[in-house]
Amino acid sequence: MLFVLDENPTSLDVLLSDLSRRFGRDFTVRGDSSSEEALSTLQAMAAASEPVALLLVADDAMEFLARAHKLHPRAKRVLLVDRDYSATSPAVQAITLGHADYHIVRPWMDDEVMYRSMTAYLSTWTRDQEPNFELFRIIAAEGDRKIPLLRDVMTRFSMPFGFYDIESEAGRHLLDAAGLDTSRLPVVIRYDGRVMIDPGLPELARAIGVSVSNDIDVCDLAIIGAGPAGLTAAVYAASEGLETVMLELAVSGGQAGSSPMIRNYPGFPHGIDGGSLMERTCEQAWLMGAHIVFAQEAVGLERERDHRIVRLRDGSQVRARAVIIATGVRWRRLGVPRLEALVGAGVFYGAAMSESRAMQDQNVFVIGAGNSAGQAALHLAKYAATVTLLARGKDLATSMSSYLVRAIAATPNVAVRLCTEVSDGGGCDALEYLHLADRANGTVQEVPADALFIMIGGEPHTQWLPSKIARDGGGYILTGHDLLQQPEVQWQGGHEPLPLETGMPGVFAAGDVRHGSIARVASAVGDGATAVRLVHEYLREHQATPARQES
Ligand SMILES: Cc1cc2nc3c(=O)[nH]c(=O)nc-3n(C[C@H](O)[C@H](O)[C@H](O)COP(=O)(O)OP(=O)(O)OC[C@H]3O[C@@H](n4cnc5c(N)ncnc54)[C@H](O)[C@@H]3O)c2cc1C
Repeated sequence: MLFVLDENPTSLDVLLSDLSRRFGRDFTVRGDSSSEEALSTLQAMAAASEPVALLLVADDAMEFLARAHKLHPRAKRVLLVDRDYSATSPAVQAITLGHADYHIVRPWMDDEVMYRSMTAYLSTWTRDQEPNFELFRIIAAEGDRKIPLLRDVMTRFSMPFGFYDIESEAGRHLLDAAGLDTSRLPVVIRYDGRVMIDPGLPELARAIGVSVSNDIDVCDLAIIGAGPAGLTAAVYAASEGLETVMLELAVSGGQAGSSPMIRNYPGFPHGIDGGSLMERTCEQAWLMGAHIVFAQEAVGLERERDHRIVRLRDGSQVRARAVIIATGVRWRRLGVPRLEALVGAGVFYGAAMSESRAMQDQNVFVIGAGNSAGQAALHLAKYAATVTLLARGKDLATSMSSYLVRAIAATPNVAVRLCTEVSDGGGCDALEYLHLADRANGTVQEVPADALFIMIGGEPHTQWLPSKIARDGGGYILTGHDLLQQPEVQWQGGHEPLPLETGMPGVFAAGDVRHGSIARVASAVGDGATAVRLVHEYLREHQATPARQES
């Protein structure tokens, strides 16, 4: 159902007929000019469990929209906005505070423009629903620690999947049909009947259809890490004619791929979920001709004459004329042993997006005071009964963007506990409770908890690098002029280090892994593109230079 409230009967009729013409085959299109009538229709639909996909409402009917959304919390909310691009337009506040998802400006010049927007909004709604067609079926026991990995991989590759508890009739039926019993779980069944028992990442990635081994021995550029920095570098390098291999230890997307909603990436006024943004970039890199290898960790890097040699976990290696390290950061650990033991069983690092559907009606806690914690809390609030954001500091404003602080304050089922640390927690097979220590008065309170998302910053993925790649005290890679400020760095490039060039000439660093990075998707993307430009410069300078002169 697409439901419109417009108090002007003439424009209501126009909108209903425009929407019916394009979407009438797949959706019922209804509307009303009276908010009371509209609410009673929506109430009856909620009672009959009839889903509403879009609620289209004039931007001065926010109270109605809030009540309608309470009845249909999964519906996407679209504001009908009259031409007003001032900062005081009600749409600005409504979208910032999360009271609306999208807007369309009317009158629209061209129906196709309106249809294109509606189609995009509907496709987001469709993605949030249980899929009609499942490419993969996962059969597992509730609380199995492999479930978060399986969900994450499926979500990052946008694979429609169904989850079947082994206790359910459908779960048992699927196992019977595959001739299996419950002794080895989880089981993953592909649409064509291929069965995988307790699959690891490489097996899953292969079943999805991506490469997990490298078939290129020598290339121009090896990129390590497929987050926004690495993927962007792959798009630019491959499109500019460099033979490019990209190696990723898990699957594509990096941290950005786990972000439920990125609102500050240019070009997406209503925001975009990080998984979709990264999936598109990955597809673009592939279409440009990059060789993309997943589930392959880089474990060593050395220089041999003209080449940099990247050693991989499976024992193979890639020889490249230049390298970009874009390995980002890993979440800092909480260090509470009982909670570490429950990672994947109610305790998660990052992962708010792939786990969100499973949080329906749960009591969820998020630790962290940065933007990612704020976004996760807001996203989880759409599903969970309650979300409690736990922060050690005295306020959120010092570390979180003000639009998020305001959105959190305006979301009724999100509570914030400041000056609070998680000192302990536990549960039998899954998280059941947390101990919250109040830093101000030293008291400890035990609270029931269904899930805990930990978002307390990260450490760079640089432990595997040789000492030649100089790093700061936090492990972040020093580049360009910063290298020359370090007395212990002996630069041997034969040229001034280029910006983004590391202590090993011809090896560049991009994104969050770099000292001084500002840890944003857009800056990682900028770094990725810039690094490729510098790789060209480096290769041009060194093409004719014999290796012995280079060192
Ligand atoms: C939940 C969440 C929400 C966020 N929201 C926003 C937001 O709204 N706006 C914003 O601007 N920023 C946001 N950020 C920050 C943003 O995602 C990061 O700044 C950005 O992803 C950094 O990109 P990157 O490519 O440098 O590194 P990463 O995204 O960390 O990617 C690095 C990749 O390298 C891989 N890798 C690591 N080591 C190896 C190895 N040895 N071999 C092979 N591969 C390796 C990793 O698996 C990973 O895929 C968010 C972050 C998180 C976690």
